[in-house]
This record gives sequence, C-alpha cells and structure tokens, in this order.
Amino acid sequence: MTPYQHLATDGSTIALPVGKVVCIGQNYQDHIAEMQSKTAPQALFFIKPSTSLCALTPGFSIPAQQGAVHNETELAVLIGKPLKQADYAQVHDAIWGYSLALDLTLRDVQAELKKLGRPWEIAKGFDGACPVGPFISKEQVQHPQQLEFRLTVNGQLRQDGNTANMIRGIHQLISEMSQHFTLLPGDIVLTGTPAGVGPLQSGDTLELQLADLLRLSTKVN
Ligand code: ZN
Repeated sequence: MTPYQHLATDGSTIALPVGKVVCIGQNYQDHIAEMQSKTAPQALFFIKPSTSLCALTPGFSIPAQQGAVHNETELAVLIGKPLKQADYAQVHDAIWGYSLALDLTLRDVQAELKKLGRPWEIAKGFDGACPVGPFISKEQVQHPQQLEFRLTVNGQLRQDGNTANMIRGIHQLISEMSQHFTLLPGDIVLTGTPAGVGPLQSGDTLELQLADLLRLSTKVN
C-alpha cells in the first residue's frame, strides 16, 4: 500500500507533511440524539494518529472481527500553518482547504470502553481509521459553513448533513482545539458527523458528495 499523502482534486500531491488528525465529537444535534449521548458545555476533542490516515478512493479496508465499524462522514479541514491559541482570523488564514473524510469507529469496542470509563483510542485511532478524500483549496470554497454533504451506501442515502448545522462552527472549533493542541502544517481537523452512522461491510460501495465541489466513489475492500 502506498503511504498516505495529502492530494489535491487534480491528483497532485500537496506539499505538506502528514500529521495528526484532531477531531470533535458531538458537533451535530441529530447525531447526539441518535447516540443518546450525554453532553457537556466543554467540547469533546480527540486525536487520531497520522497512521490512521489513508486514501478514501478507490477503496479502503476496515478491521475484521472487532464488531461493528461505523461510518461517520465529516467535513475535513487541511491545516497549512501552525496554530497555537489562535483567534478566528489566524484560523482562517491557516486553512489550506477542505475535503470529506470518514471518522471510522469500532462502535462495539467504543461502547465497551465507555462502559469501563476508559479512553476510546483503539476504537478511533487504528491503522486506516481515517480515509480522506482529495482537498479543495479554500479559495474555491466560498461558503464552507453552508455545504450540504452526503454519504450513499449501496445506492441508499445514509447521511445527509449540512455544515450550517454544526454546533461549533469551523473557525470556533479549530480555535478551541488550538487552546489544547498546537496544530501544525499538514494536520487535519475533522468537524463532526451528522446523524446516519451505521455499520459498513466488506463489499459495500460508497458515494460521497460535498455540495457541487466533490463527488467520490469508493468501496470497502
Ligand atoms: Zn466523528
């Protein structure tokens, strides 16, 4: 397998290193409702390591025999400049561009860890846990906070979200993340999933669409 690199939509490599993935949980009300999650005013942040990154297309693998592997389709933000305790203007300046990613989650493993009060690292950070698409530069994305995005599995619509429905907007959540973790060029931020998470199976065919900006076909190997 070729190692992951950030790609642009024309297939060229983006000259940024491959870094960590910083994620927010519980950023869409409909997903909080479907999970019946306990919420708190503080944001729920977690990190997937760089080794979780892989190309979303033309196919990706999921772990076998570890229970359900759920799709979470999310707007991905590629960071181009360092951000430490950043304000919104610095965040805006540091964004390289946008794509879609899957925050793959071993849901049964996660549920067991939650019950034990343990961190969920192994449910979210395994090798290949973050398939990501090619990035669109921010200059081509006029209204990142007003993008409809969809996941179709085997021809059936499974997730249909809009970035307008984020509880914390893109600039706010990245600014808040940077109070805890320095973001470096080449890091990716995942902005949370809307409702419609569910199990993926080997052989599934997936279509992901980000407004009129990106349309990707892939499959679960
Ligand atoms: Zn997620």
